[in-house]
Amino acid sequence: MRNNPAITENLNANLVIIGGGGAGMAAALTAAEKGVENILVLDKRGIGGNSAMAFGIFAADSPVQKRNKINCTRDECFKIAMNWSQWRINPCIIRALIDKSGDTVKWLEEKGVEFECGPFFPNQLPTFHVPKGRGAELMKTLKENCRALGIKLMPRSPAAQILTDERGHLTGVHAQATEAGLNISCKAVIVATGGFGGNEEMLRQYCPEYHSRMERVGLPHMGDGIRMAAQIGAATDSRNVLLLGGPSSLHPPDLHVKPGIKPDLSVIGLMPIAWEPRALWLNSKGKRFADESVDSGSYPTTNPVVNQPDNLCYTVLDSNLVEMISEQGPVMSMGVSKEKGDRKLPGLAGDLKARVKNGLVHIFGSLEEMAGWMQVDPGIIKDTLEEYNSSCDGAHDRIFLKDKKYLFPLRTTPYYVIKWQTAFTNTIGG
Ligand SMILES: Cc1cc2nc3c(=O)[nH]c(=O)nc-3n(C[C@H](O)[C@H](O)[C@H](O)COP(=O)(O)OP(=O)(O)OC[C@H]3O[C@@H](n4cnc5c(N)ncnc54)[C@H](O)[C@@H]3O)c2cc1C
Repeated sequence: MRNNPAITENLNANLVIIGGGGAGMAAALTAAEKGVENILVLDKRGIGGNSAMAFGIFAADSPVQKRNKINCTRDECFKIAMNWSQWRINPCIIRALIDKSGDTVKWLEEKGVEFECGPFFPNQLPTFHVPKGRGAELMKTLKENCRALGIKLMPRSPAAQILTDERGHLTGVHAQATEAGLNISCKAVIVATGGFGGNEEMLRQYCPEYHSRMERVGLPHMGDGIRMAAQIGAATDSRNVLLLGGPSSLHPPDLHVKPGIKPDLSVIGLMPIAWEPRALWLNSKGKRFADESVDSGSYPTTNPVVNQPDNLCYTVLDSNLVEMISEQGPVMSMGVSKEKGDRKLPGLAGDLKARVKNGLVHIFGSLEEMAGWMQVDPGIIKDTLEEYNSSCDGAHDRIFLKDKKYLFPLRTTPYYVIKWQTAFTNTIGG
């Protein structure tokens, strides 16, 4: 029996949290620690949300950094964040987020979460805190802590409506559990339902960057919380932000490489190769369109790709470059341990070849062959390569000014190509 409208169960709670992801579970635990009793967490699916898929969290001035003698101040991070965004983001929210971040890591450590810390990308400050077992393990730990404090977790119980009386004052929440409808009377509600990454209509309405060919890597959140809160008069803000990233085919299966274990592509994923700054990026018309090293200092790789036809990028490497990456390791690290020597990828050429059969990597003996596969005039590909190689020979990228340390001509066959599109994990704001 499912959602039988004839059966309605009545429940009481002091606080109802709608959404059992990282935000909801942290809110529930904090409220319980501050003495609130009878807390109920509703989730549409299982507890965990997108938070269970995340790799790690940002923090400045954390106990992990202090123990490792990493000097990374909150002020420095605030300045970087505001300059990077050109003050388009709310400085008070950013200040609060950064100021609280170190304490958040401390709070999570007290709950039993273990972290390692380093830069997410090269040239970044070491602010990326990766929990042991990543987001999945972190969420499991929060779940155990909630249960220990008597917080009632109700998975597969989507909230449908926030209830108010005739004066507009909150009275409760209506939800739909598997067996029956639920009317929950409560004194307070916290809405933490993630964004609206699964809601095509809202994506088209609010996110100008959204493209129907973009892969959604996160859960298909429908914006339920935004809708329910707006229905009872809540204001909305900044609903237009898509959290962009690489597609799931490039994602690393495991970020934790233990010292002594040699990483290969089955450990680190294809992302460090697809985003390798010494490679060449082509769009579907066979033209170069950006400095391929844009991401070696932050996270904007996907921005120039969003503007390309069909949101497509072809990362091109030649045999020399594959050998170089094999011997020196990729420039991009994706949080992989920086233990000396373990960045090398011996056998990279073979690893790439092994991915031809599932269509993730394509290998070509000539530029003509590559052009044929891309359905582009071979003359265009040749011109693009010639221009790029001459920039490399002259150690000066006169078009996009890529740093000369990343300029290596691509002339040695076979060519390796990784075709990828921008993906998004979810929306931010509500
Ligand atoms: C693959 C991936 C990797 C990521 N990596 C990182 C990273 O490394 N670092 C980082 O900072 N961020 C990362 N992110 C983003 C990060 O995961 C999110 O920003 C964060 O998890 C949001 O937390 P949340 O609690 O707001 O939402 P979520 O964790 O998504 O939780 C929302 C919950 O609400 C529930 N819900 C929705 N509607 C209802 C309803 N009607 N009733 C009841 N429950 C409902 C959902 O089922 C879900 O469980 C990543 C995201 C993805 C998808």
